[in-house]
Amino acid sequence: MRKALTIGEVLVEIVATTKGDGFLRAQPLIGPFPSGAPAIFIDQLGRLGTPCAIVSRVGDDDFGRVNIDRLRADGVDVSGIEIAPGESTGSAFVRYRDDGSRAFVYNIRHSACGNLRPTAASEALIDSCDHLHVMGTALSAPGLGQMVMEAARRIKARGGTLSFDPNLRAEIMDAPGLREAIAEVVEMTDLFLPSGEELFLFAPAGDEQAAVDALLDRGMTTIVVKRGAQGASLFERGLRLDAAPIAVTEIDPTGAGDCFGGAFLSFWLAGAAPRQALRYANAAGARAVTQLGPMEGASTREELDALMGDMERIAQ
Ligand code: ATP
Ligand code: MG
Repeated sequence: MRKALTIGEVLVEIVATTKGDGFLRAQPLIGPFPSGAPAIFIDQLGRLGTPCAIVSRVGDDDFGRVNIDRLRADGVDVSGIEIAPGESTGSAFVRYRDDGSRAFVYNIRHSACGNLRPTAASEALIDSCDHLHVMGTALSAPGLGQMVMEAARRIKARGGTLSFDPNLRAEIMDAPGLREAIAEVVEMTDLFLPSGEELFLFAPAGDEQAAVDALLDRGMTTIVVKRGAQGASLFERGLRLDAAPIAVTEIDPTGAGDCFGGAFLSFWLAGAAPRQALRYANAAGARAVTQLGPMEGASTREELDALMGDMERIAQ
């Protein structure tokens, strides 16, 4: 079976239990929950039984251990997570505003992952994998970004494949070298996983089909557009499939895009039909939002089958 790799920040998330003024008053917090977009993504792959690994760096602390233990238990190869004595694992604190939107306090600027550099172990791991998943956020950090680019070139040169989730946020867009790195990644991308708004950053066209066609012309084979509570659409040359959203009660939206992407890649790597990959990814994104905690909503095959089975019974 093909083995997928991602490279990036592993952190914990701690959640405020009251809405509105959140951190401005003392209150119970919950967590630490294992987190970090690449970690959530790779955990979803592991839970679906796809061989997968992550290259990252954490402190010799409980926040790092919470992640390593969870990822290992879910089937992820964690041999590429370096443990750095005297350094700290990153953390993020999240509170919900009354309108349901999220506000974060990040504590990752000086995290152990910021000092991630290639090692003999990470290079061997990269060479044992034949698919790389790239996150836009990883490209905005200097050392990490360079490592991701080198891994991408190596895996592609060996005939491997690459998926790309831009995950672009306004605060990283001005990072030095980001635009050049993104342009190179786009040329190497086989499977593209943008949100509806992100798509037009990559192909400024009048409508979605024109934007998709421009990217397919540049060598992508599959483009899956994520639309939050509106579902998702898949495009390949001459093919468009739409997945209606699965009706769920949203508890915590964090991680939906990563669980969607991890589930899609699991089926895509196994050579599943596009319709099946999209169906399972749509279910994985929907199930992710029903659980509190970013990685808590990563699903097993049984959980996805159960959710889709419930939906079919309701529809009858
Ligand atoms: P993130 O905020 O994690 O970066 P994203 O913008 O990359 O997320 P979303 O579009 O929010 O990704 O979610 C991914 C997919 O999960 C959607 O395309 C959809 O299939 C599913 N999904 C997300 N939210 C919901 C919801 N409230 N109800 C049903 N399905 C959902
Ligand atoms: Mg979203």
